[in-house]
Amino acid sequence: MQAWHKEITRLLLLYSSVSLIGGTAGLLLPSLLALTAALLLTQFLQIRRFEKWISGGGKGQYPKSSGIWEEIYYHIYRIKKSEKRRKKKLRKLIEQFRQSTEALPDAAVVLRANDEIEWANKAARQMLGLQQMDKGQRIPNLVRFPEFIRYLKSGNYSEPVILPSPVNNRIILEVRIIAYGSGLRLLLAQDVTQLKKMQTIRKDFVANVSHELRTPLTVLKGYLETLQDMDDGVSPLLTTSFKEMQGQTERMQHLVDDLLLLTRLETQQKKQQCIDIPALLSQICKEGDTLENASRRIELTLETSVHIFGEEQDLRSAFTNLLGNALKYSPEDTLVQVRWYQTEDEMILNVEDHGEGIAEADIPRVTERFYRVEAKRRKKVPGTGLGLAIVKHALMRHDARLQITSELGKGSCFSCHFPIKRICR
Ligand code: ADP
Repeated sequence: MQAWHKEITRLLLLYSSVSLIGGTAGLLLPSLLALTAALLLTQFLQIRRFEKWISGGGKGQYPKSSGIWEEIYYHIYRIKKSEKRRKKKLRKLIEQFRQSTEALPDAAVVLRANDEIEWANKAARQMLGLQQMDKGQRIPNLVRFPEFIRYLKSGNYSEPVILPSPVNNRIILEVRIIAYGSGLRLLLAQDVTQLKKMQTIRKDFVANVSHELRTPLTVLKGYLETLQDMDDGVSPLLTTSFKEMQGQTERMQHLVDDLLLLTRLETQQKKQQCIDIPALLSQICKEGDTLENASRRIELTLETSVHIFGEEQDLRSAFTNLLGNALKYSPEDTLVQVRWYQTEDEMILNVEDHGEGIAEADIPRVTERFYRVEAKRRKKVPGTGLGLAIVKHALMRHDARLQITSELGKGSCFSCHFPIKRICR
């Protein structure tokens, strides 16, 4: 502001002295015009000098000047200097970020909108076989697995994709993509070879043990039945022992059967076809009623007749488990409602009971293998703790999900949500 005051005062002084001198000489107008022209010319020269300096990038020290121009040059110089400092700081930050991502054990690749590689870290070069010079190349031309290309194109990155490494097919990678910014995507790949190996060992172990237990169990059961037939009831101790032994072998049989079923769900190839869900549900409910001594506790509502593309045995296991639980964990004088219906984007099966319900903290855990709510163990309700794990896996094989809503003392509702793409009639 002070500079402006000085400039205006200077102009006023100039004009008043020229007017005084010009007026005394009788040349007021020409002298004022001459002064204005001279001032305009100086301003023009200043603008030219300024334009020359700024178009050269405003580098180095600014040209010597006076008055308001000195001020203008000084402000621009200051702005440029702080900009330079900011850029230096930013460059340092980017460099630090690059160094840290370079050191990451996981592969990271930044992709542009048209799948072109913008940047890749060292692990990406090692795991995906990318090179420094691949910048600007389209990633589908370098990582050519069809499942990867399908994943990349799908635009749905909620789940990762599992691939062998293009460099070494014994290395298994879990690849996920994260979209960010405008059209940019970050591809992350993690080496999960060990994890997959452990999972295979676990699956094989469970499958082998369950399989091997089958024969001794059948032999035990056979002998037990013979011994029970021979029991003349003279010794109450023997009679109760046989009964207890039979109960325990049956429990073991259920465990082995459930473990084998889970293994099959995890490992076997899918052989799917169009399944008549209303017919399947009617059959399961009828069987359920027979088991419940024909007390007609089950109420089946079929609001839609849609069929689902899937595997009948898997769906039968899932639905039977849900219905079995609903009957098992609710009083005998209450209804269990089974409802098959369709919404705009899903087909839903609800199995609802009015039983004891599940505590909020237990809900996320009940689908874990062998998880049983504590009270059940104490009350000795029979069960293996594998039923809901089977339901979860069977649904996963159908791109479906299990939703559980429950309130202690009021009852539970287990819903199986199938995507609309599964409709086959
Ligand atoms: P299991 O019934 O053999 O114990 P599940 O995996 O089928 O095993 O169920 C796990 C646990 O979830 C059960 O032990 C029980 O505590 C709880 N649960 C399952 N279904 C219901 C239900 N309808 N009502 C109340 N609790 C349930």
